[in-house]
Amino acid sequence: MSFRPRWAALAAALVLIVTPIPRAAEAAPAGDQLSAGESALIRFRLPDEAMLRRLVAGGEDLAARPRTQNGAVLADIVVDGRRLAALTAQGAEPLQVIQRSSSGAARATRLAAQADTLHFLQAYWWTSNGKTFLQTQVATTATDDPDVEITVTWRTADGATGSFPLVRFEDSGEYQYHYALPQPMPAKPVQVTASSSLGGTSRAITPAIWPGATPPPAPTGYQKDFVDAYMTPVDIKARIKRLARQYPKLVDVINLPNKTQGYRRTAVAYLGDPNAAAVIVESVAFGDQGMNGVQVRTVDPGAANRPLSATYKDRVLTVRLATDGTGKTISTTDDVAAFISARYPQRFRAVVEEGSTGLPMPVAGPARLDDGLLGTEVPQGPWTVQALRIGKTRDGSKPGVLSYSQEHAREWATPLVTLEFAERLLANYATDPETRSLVDATDIFIIPTVNPDGANYSFNDFNFQRKNLVNHCTGATRDPKYRNSWGVDVNRNYTVGSYFDGYVGASANCLSGTYAGTAELSEAESRNVIALAKAHPNINLAMNVHSYGGYFMWPPGAYRADGRVTLPRPSIDESKFFLDSARRIVGAIATERGTVTWPSYTGPVADVLYSAAGNSADQLYYELGIDAWDFEVGNDRWNEATQQWEGVGFQPPFDEAHAESQEYAGGLLELVRVARDRAAAGQ
Ligand SMILES: [Zn+2]
Repeated sequence: MSFRPRWAALAAALVLIVTPIPRAAEAAPAGDQLSAGESALIRFRLPDEAMLRRLVAGGEDLAARPRTQNGAVLADIVVDGRRLAALTAQGAEPLQVIQRSSSGAARATRLAAQADTLHFLQAYWWTSNGKTFLQTQVATTATDDPDVEITVTWRTADGATGSFPLVRFEDSGEYQYHYALPQPMPAKPVQVTASSSLGGTSRAITPAIWPGATPPPAPTGYQKDFVDAYMTPVDIKARIKRLARQYPKLVDVINLPNKTQGYRRTAVAYLGDPNAAAVIVESVAFGDQGMNGVQVRTVDPGAANRPLSATYKDRVLTVRLATDGTGKTISTTDDVAAFISARYPQRFRAVVEEGSTGLPMPVAGPARLDDGLLGTEVPQGPWTVQALRIGKTRDGSKPGVLSYSQEHAREWATPLVTLEFAERLLANYATDPETRSLVDATDIFIIPTVNPDGANYSFNDFNFQRKNLVNHCTGATRDPKYRNSWGVDVNRNYTVGSYFDGYVGASANCLSGTYAGTAELSEAESRNVIALAKAHPNINLAMNVHSYGGYFMWPPGAYRADGRVTLPRPSIDESKFFLDSARRIVGAIATERGTVTWPSYTGPVADVLYSAAGNSADQLYYELGIDAWDFEVGNDRWNEATQQWEGVGFQPPFDEAHAESQEYAGGLLELVRVARDRAAAGQ
C-alpha cells in the first residue's frame, strides 16, 4: 500500500475517532441522515483506489487504515451531512456508522481515555547457529479495535536500532495479543519498546534470554544416533524385541490390553457406474477374511412379473432384478441396496452411491470386491500395541515417566524420537554415570507408535493419513472415494474437555481430520494410553510426541466456544513448574543443532496452538494427575537467503527427521532428569 506513510502521519486523527467498534454496529445511514452540525465517523466502501487517492490528495479526514476487502477499498472517514451526500454521489457506499460526534468536553475525556496502554507479555532473545533473534508479544488495552497497529522498536548495546510491526492474533473470536515471528537481530537486543497507532506506548523492557538453561554436556564416549531410516510399525516392533533381548535387566515389554483393528478394511465394489447409477456393495467382514475377490452382479431374470431376488454361491452374489408385466426390469438403486443389506446382513451391506438415489438399477457386473489396501508386507489381523518399560527398579516404587508417539499416523519422525531416547538410556547405562543415575531413579514407559494401523496406511497407501483405520461412517460416506478421510483422530478421542463435553477443536463428521469418534475412548488406541497410565500410578510426568512445528505445550488444551472458557488453568506453582521445566527441556533440545523452540510456542496448548478437544494430555493431567506435556517436533528452519522461517512438514527428507530425533531425544532425557530431580527434592 503506497499510502502507508501518510496513514502513519494521520495517527493523531486516529486518536480522535477510532473507538472499539460497537458489537451491534449502527446500521449505515441511507443518504443524508446527519443532523445540521453533526459529524460522524463512517466506514465507506469506495468504488476504486482512484477515489481513495483523490480523497487523500484532497485532504480528506481519513481515519484508520484503508483496507482492501474482496477487491473493494474500505475507508473510515469523518463526514458531516453535506460531505456525506457528496461522497455518496461519487459512488462511496456508507457501510457503518462507527461513531457519532459528541460535545467537546466528552471528546476531550475520550481523547485521554483512548490512547491505549501497551504491555509486553513476552520479550525474549536467543542465538541459534550464530544468528540472534528477538521475539515479542504485546497486548493492547484496545482489545476490540481490529485496526490498532503496534510497532516494536529495539536497540542493541552498541546503539543499533530498528523496528518491526506486530500482527494481531485472535482465537475463537477473542483478542489474544499482537506478535511477530522471531526477528533476526545484528546483536543481542538490550531494550525494546512498543508503540501503537492509537498513541499508546509501553514501558522500555530489557529482553530476557531464552530459554536460559543448558543441560550438563554428555560425557566423552556417550552413545547416540540409533536411527538410520524411517521406521514402519513392523520395524518398530522388531526394535522393541531387540532392545528387550539385549538389555533384559533393564527392559520389560508391555503388551497393551486393547488390540487395534489392524491394517484392514472391508472389501467393496461399485455395482453399476458411479458416474451414472451405482450401488456400493461392501463386505461385513474385512477383505482379508476371505472377502477380497468376492463378486457381485445384477441380472435381468428374462421373465415377466419377477420379484427382486438374490443368490450367493461360489463367492458370487447374483441379484435378479424385479420385472413388470412386460418383462422390463423395474428395480431401483434404492431397492437393490436395501434388498442386499436385508437379505445378507451377516455378509454384505449396500448403500446407494451419492447421486444415484431413485435411479433404475442397471444390469451390471460382475464387480470384484476388494479392500483396496496396497501394503503387501504388513501382517494381517488385529495389532498388539507395545510399550517399553525401562528402569533398574520396575516395581512402581520409582517416579514414572510416560512418553508416547505417533497418535497421528503421518508423523513419521515421532517414533524415531522415542526409540532414540530409549536406546540412549539403555546403551549408555553401563558406562555413563548420569544415565545410570536416571535409569536407577526412575521408571520409564515408552509407546513408540500408538496408532500402528494408521501408520501402516500412511506408509503404504496415503502418506497424509492422520487418523486410525476404524471407519465409523454410515450411508453414502462409506463410498470408497472417501477412503483417505475415514478414521478417528486418536488425539480427540479422550474423555476430558472433549467434543462430547462441548469443547472446541474436534468434529462429529466421520470424514473430518479431527473426528472425535463415536464416544469418548471409543478407540483401542486411546484406551491403550489411558490403560497404561492407570495401571502404573507411579507415572507422574508424560510427554505426548507429535510433529511438526516446534511447539512445547501443556494444559489446558481445550476451551469451549462460547466465551472461550478453557479447562481450569494450572495453579501458579504448577505453571511455574511447567515453565521452569520447559526451559530446561528447550535448552536440552537446542544443544543438538541449535534449534530453539520459540517462547511464543512454549505454553498451554490452548494459548499457543489451538483448542484440541479430547486430547490425551488433558485426560492425563486433569483425570490422572499426571503433569502432561506435548511436543510438536520439527521446528521451522531459518533460511538466511530468503530471511524467512520455513516449515519442515510431516515427512521431511530423512536427514531432517534424523536431526529431529536426535534433538528431541535429548529433550526427553531432560524430562527424565526433571522427574529425578523433583523426586530427589521430595516434591
Ligand atoms: Zn499430531
